[in-house]
Amino acid sequence: MAVAENIRCSHCGAPVEFKPGEIIATCKYCGFTTVVETGQAFNFEHSLLLNRFDGTQIEEPIRSWMRSGFLKPPDLAKKSKIMEKNLVYLPFWVVSVEAKTSYKGIFERIAPPVVKEGKIQKEYNWLVLAREAAGFPTREYDVPLEGKIPYDFRKIEGFAKVLNSEIDRDEALELAKQQIEAHHRYLLQQDVDKIIEMYTDINLKQMVYLHAPVWFVKYEYKGKTYQLIMDGAAGMALKGDIPSSKF
Ligand SMILES: [Zn+2]
Repeated sequence: MAVAENIRCSHCGAPVEFKPGEIIATCKYCGFTTVVETGQAFNFEHSLLLNRFDGTQIEEPIRSWMRSGFLKPPDLAKKSKIMEKNLVYLPFWVVSVEAKTSYKGIFERIAPPVVKEGKIQKEYNWLVLAREAAGFPTREYDVPLEGKIPYDFRKIEGFAKVLNSEIDRDEALELAKQQIEAHHRYLLQQDVDKIIEMYTDINLKQMVYLHAPVWFVKYEYKGKTYQLIMDGAAGMALKGDIPSSKF
């Protein structure tokens, strides 16, 4: 178990808790955000996406996810018992960039093979989870960014948990670059079979630190427990375990 430590909030003086590995911490009494290492104010834009569901309301999109899709047992919504519903505001970096990849490769699907050159040019609001934990479906999460507001601690429900960042701005930018390059490498394989060279140029437009509401749900179906992750802003399932529907 990680032991929490604390620093003093330079805005309201309350203790701001952080755990080992966390590097940006938000005061739960006033919403002020501090860089743990320096004790200085966090100087970048800090945004919040609002959660639209309380503990009862979130059951509707959960049941609706259970009812949809032919891969699920037909009685899933009816027979499942929701065991846990925890609202967590997860920290993300939203990296807004223009990314250009130039490449040269060999197209081998015809004979004789030919050398081809091309460009991929795209704009992204690339999402980087600001936690070391693996397993969160960041790529499946189409964050409704138009709904973001400046971070406001008064909008955080008393029962919710707010997680601090374990990844700083530079590290997040580096991760975004690597992930975008890997994504472009995947895309250009539709055009060439063997890459001779590729170069990706990333033009950073904006970086926003964002807390987004995510519901971590546990449900029981026929004696087994399954997990489901729901987006609290739009009520969409991000990732869910589905019981095998074999009888
Ligand atoms: Zn404070």
